[in-house]
Amino acid sequence: MEMRRYVTMALVSFVLITGLAALGGLLHGKGESCDPAEGDEQVIPAIEEGPAFSKDMTYIRDIPLPLDEAMEQHLTEFRTKAKELMLKYPDSFFISLPTNEKVVALTFDDGPDAYTTREIVEILDRFQVPATFFFIGNQISRNPGSARLVIESGHLAANHSWSHLRPTDIDTGKCISEVTAAESAIAGITSACRLYRPPYGLVTEAQMAALEEAGYKVFAWSVDSMDWYFDDPDDIVRCVVERVHPGAIVLLHCAGGRNNRRATIEALPQIITELKDMGYSFVALDRY
Ligand SMILES: [Zn+2]
Repeated sequence: MEMRRYVTMALVSFVLITGLAALGGLLHGKGESCDPAEGDEQVIPAIEEGPAFSKDMTYIRDIPLPLDEAMEQHLTEFRTKAKELMLKYPDSFFISLPTNEKVVALTFDDGPDAYTTREIVEILDRFQVPATFFFIGNQISRNPGSARLVIESGHLAANHSWSHLRPTDIDTGKCISEVTAAESAIAGITSACRLYRPPYGLVTEAQMAALEEAGYKVFAWSVDSMDWYFDDPDDIVRCVVERVHPGAIVLLHCAGGRNNRRATIEALPQIITELKDMGYSFVALDRY
């Protein structure tokens, strides 16, 4: 009798301890991503706690390489104006993603074209990295195959205006018509999302108010790869890798430029590899 009670108590204790351990495991694992590629789910690493997200972290990073004085001044003014828009329209104008997770959004402007866009998609797909493509509306009907390739590869197609006019040089009505024309072109190939990147990054306050009213989210960037400025792929890599931060939005290009963006194409695999080594994962802009 005594022995039976002892065995029963031992069994109850075992079940309780096992149950608590299992519950603990569940709680610990909550919120973690379940990437099947990571395979073994037995060991779940603890989430690295960074500082809480704050707006103070939201600013456009400087360029880690020497620039001529005029360019330095131009970029300083751009950073100031973009920050003003972000502070005035915090729910509609974004410089970076509102997170302290180690995620990066690679964004590619000015496509689709017949050559570079395809090369960029091929590299992204090889590394299984999602990205956002800000399309120029009038290029979509000229390069429908490249536009479809972007969509079919699972990337996000977003709005970079109809004809790449600088918004701050045109009135609000013209700016909005540029945006809606591009939206129609994108809607012809995929379900259009109302994400817009102004050509050259800025809009006027009146345009911003109209875009917000129309339900648009407007994206500048926090890290400029300077692939429109530097020809050396190593410089482009440095501009990204030395300035990346949690929630970074990185500006790159997938059309135009010199030599079909040879420097961007050469830099991209190294950028992805180095960011992955630093513990970053990649998201498209519609995740936020
Ligand atoms: Zn552009």
